[in-house]
Amino acid sequence: MIDTAPDIFENSNIEDHIKKIEEKEKIGVCPSCKKNIVDKVKFYGCSNYPNCKFTLSKDFRKKKLTKKNVSELLEEKETIVTNLKSKNGNKYNAKVSLNDNNFIEFIGFSKS
Ligand SMILES: [Zn+2]
Repeated sequence: MIDTAPDIFENSNIEDHIKKIEEKEKIGVCPSCKKNIVDKVKFYGCSNYPNCKFTLSKDFRKKKLTKKNVSELLEEKETIVTNLKSKNGNKYNAKVSLNDNNFIEFIGFSKS
């Protein structure tokens, strides 16, 4: 049987290609040790583990964080998680940030 799958490296520089993949998968920089943050499937963690035990949840109040949320949290900025659902079914946006224990903390409601 002949393998007809296209060779994705054909006519391209392999190093460039790998660089592009790494850029795409780059989540952010660890706020505690400045190494890369990697996707650990169930959460985000530091590539420097076990020397650094920084982890970040992938969601807040059952809402999956966006890439923007994650990168802002890793930069120790406030970020807005949108379309959260309250107990009575109303949707709301929450302003959150990382606290000293690296837990995502609710700061307040946001209109945007
Ligand atoms: Zn780290």
